[in-house]
Amino acid sequence: MKNIAILGATGSIGLNTLDVIARHPDKYSAFAVSAHSNWKSLNELCKKHMPKYAILVDEEAADNLRKLAPKGVEVLSGENALDDIASHVQTDFVMAAIVGGAGMSSTFSAAMAGKRIMLANKESLVLGGALLMNAANKSGAEIIPVDSEHSAIFQCLQAGKEGLNKIQLTASGGPFLKTPFVSLSKVTPEEACNHPNWKMGQKISVDSATMMNKGLEVIEASFLFNLPATHIEVIVHPQSIVHSCVYYDDGSVLSQMGLPDMRSAISYALSFPGRQLSGVEVLDLTKQPPLEFFPPDMKKYKCLELAYQAIKQGGNAPGTLNAANEVAVDAFLKNKIGFLDISKIIEKTLNETPTQNLDTLPSVVENDQLSRQLALSLISKND
Ligand code: NAD
Ligand code: MG
Repeated sequence: MKNIAILGATGSIGLNTLDVIARHPDKYSAFAVSAHSNWKSLNELCKKHMPKYAILVDEEAADNLRKLAPKGVEVLSGENALDDIASHVQTDFVMAAIVGGAGMSSTFSAAMAGKRIMLANKESLVLGGALLMNAANKSGAEIIPVDSEHSAIFQCLQAGKEGLNKIQLTASGGPFLKTPFVSLSKVTPEEACNHPNWKMGQKISVDSATMMNKGLEVIEASFLFNLPATHIEVIVHPQSIVHSCVYYDDGSVLSQMGLPDMRSAISYALSFPGRQLSGVEVLDLTKQPPLEFFPPDMKKYKCLELAYQAIKQGGNAPGTLNAANEVAVDAFLKNKIGFLDISKIIEKTLNETPTQNLDTLPSVVENDQLSRQLALSLISKND
């Protein structure tokens, strides 16, 4: 029996994880669940899954849950509680499914404690990629990607990297694939969150619409698979059936396919190296529309270009890119800036931040905070 700590349990990945776990009560138990402040949803999850611990970052929300939580569920509060549970002696696997840089500390805590990390929180790698991979190597922690593209590549690379030529991440192109560039200045947060293939949280949905999600994924892939950006390509594939491809020197290309349902990647991260039922419907290729592939329009998807620029710059640049993106996406969701302002804010923040190497976790956190402040000040100037 494996004890699973699901950090970000009330989100899209968290709920899908609980769905897969509940299908295998003989193998997995929900040891801990967490949310930021949504105590009502967390209470429902507690009643259904009866974890040992429920964590709410927000203290007031935790007080509310303490009054209602079923007997036997201990309610913890504060950010430190996330780190404590991620490294808890009884935790076997950690589902890192908090959105944004807020997920980094608990991911590091799990890495230092030698846990299996099922990594959905790509921002942890974008912010502190080299440090995180080193911490995991040192402790023996396993990092199993849960992002569908990275899970695909991880599955294709099981035979090793010998003769590897390049990897290719597929991108759906998001809701605005067919929208002309001139119309993008007017799109609304609701339109941006209306992804054609995947049901996801708001932040990653906007990232998919700008294609910053793919940019973050290029950075994520470079750390996970230890590859330079020159060996990581992006291709648009609107049907989201081919989840990514690995090209070999002998002309072979391996890819992993499936319906766009995150439970495949989640289930594989749980069962690796084995496989199990995940609840995902079987793919019937004869019933799919024709599969299309074409190169991304880098002028339209400026955020993707900026991500490649940041990875080339190295050092603190990916962290700065991520911080500015989080601030800009939040402002867009609150109708404070337009859709096309997102990339402008990120570009300015990147250009105004000197490149430097970040060798420690505190320096990563400091760069994140300074970049957020800079992006925020650029947004207020934008008003
Ligand atoms: P979501 O918005 O649906 O859920 C986010 C979860 O994080 C919630 O449980 C929320 O309570 C918690 N949270 C939010 N802010 C927090 C904070 N400051 N401190 C602690 N907890 C906080 O997000 P999601 O779509 O499930 O995405 C989660 C992560 O997985 C993201 O990093 C995303 O990029 C990645 N991911 C998601 C998908 C997907 O299909 N949804 C696919 C690939 C990768
Ligand atoms: Mg992805």
